[in-house]
Amino acid sequence: MIWRELTTGIYPWDIHDEGIEKILDNLQEYAGNNAAYMLALMHHEKRPLHANYYPHNPVRKRYLAEDSRVYFTIHPEMYKNSRIKPLPTEREFLKDTDWLAVFIKALRKRGMKTGAEISHTPLDSERGRKEFGDCIQRDVYGNPPPYDRFTYQQLCWNSPDAREYVYSLARDLAAHYDLDMIQTCSFLYNPGRLDLHPFLGVSLGGCFCDNCKREAEAQGIDFEAMRSAIKKWADLLTGHELENIEDRLMLRQGNSTSAMFLLEDPLLYQWLRFRCGTVTRYLKGLSEAIHSVNKKIDFRFNTCWQEQELIGQNLREIAPYVDSIRMMDYSEQTGSDEIVSRKGLWLANVRRQAGEGKTIIGGIAPRAKASPELIRKGIRIVALGGADGLSYGFYDGAKFENLKAIREAMEECEIILSGSKEEKT
Ligand SMILES: [Zn+2]
Repeated sequence: MIWRELTTGIYPWDIHDEGIEKILDNLQEYAGNNAAYMLALMHHEKRPLHANYYPHNPVRKRYLAEDSRVYFTIHPEMYKNSRIKPLPTEREFLKDTDWLAVFIKALRKRGMKTGAEISHTPLDSERGRKEFGDCIQRDVYGNPPPYDRFTYQQLCWNSPDAREYVYSLARDLAAHYDLDMIQTCSFLYNPGRLDLHPFLGVSLGGCFCDNCKREAEAQGIDFEAMRSAIKKWADLLTGHELENIEDRLMLRQGNSTSAMFLLEDPLLYQWLRFRCGTVTRYLKGLSEAIHSVNKKIDFRFNTCWQEQELIGQNLREIAPYVDSIRMMDYSEQTGSDEIVSRKGLWLANVRRQAGEGKTIIGGIAPRAKASPELIRKGIRIVALGGADGLSYGFYDGAKFENLKAIREAMEECEIILSGSKEEKT
């Protein structure tokens, strides 16, 4: 089996702390990477994620990333049509260096493929709360919907300003950097309170902002009718203070399947379809923005959440507009054999929706509670499921024995990387 790539994400502070040559030595020697990508715009997050401390960072035990900053040289002329401008890092040890340029130069010297990612939240919460509050998602009551830490950072993709901002970022990257791939994992629509009800909880998600109203009405949708239908479900979920989830489900909705609710309420279906249409249009526009600058760049959509219909994602509609799909399946980090065993289900969903011809880059996680055994198992499932490559999350939190397990597992599965000397012989 030939895979087109083995890649992983690298953070600018990893490059500062470990040195790019050391990092690439480790990627090539232990795991056998032929590609890597850098987080060109990173959201607010503690690194390493899911573990207390870095396993091999020689400078620090952990790092708290700033909120939605960029780590490349901003070219202001690329944002002249964008109301939202990107913010550069303000950390002393990171500012004044073009980390993406450093990264790409080192990879090219070794003949490796390069990529850049625009991560979950392109906009910081401070500006999302204030000057760009009109670009942020609203729930059916007009409030920004919660989603652990991402409140006030969830852009609504019906906002022309939100779309143009990400398109400008992508064009800036495509125009000024020697990139093979640009990946995004934009936070899509807020899924609401699935803890209150596994399906109807979506009624407490986004979005009912003014941009949504304008767009829905332009499409001939009766937005107010749709809003009051969704509000009815939302009120049912929030109107009573019942401690016990079983009581809540029984008193409010019974145990119907989601299909029954959709048959019962065509406006609920219309709203879910409306959100999916918006997301597809956003990603189509992002693809066009990148390819208007450089046709050869692989535009990769990172699918992050399995409950895709509840975040406005329909891969069957999106697939024609993206060059490849990465799966953020990090089951191995749970340490659970049972969870890893189920990896093939998600992959089967993506393959069915994306079609046989679409490039799918599978995911594994060599970090946190992952072990060499679970990594071998995960890679076997990804290979059997017909993936075209592998992207692991992430180097910063991976023990070296886990990186070695990636290479061993690929050898066991007789996977050859395209462009490697094994392929040529
Ligand atoms: Zn909206």
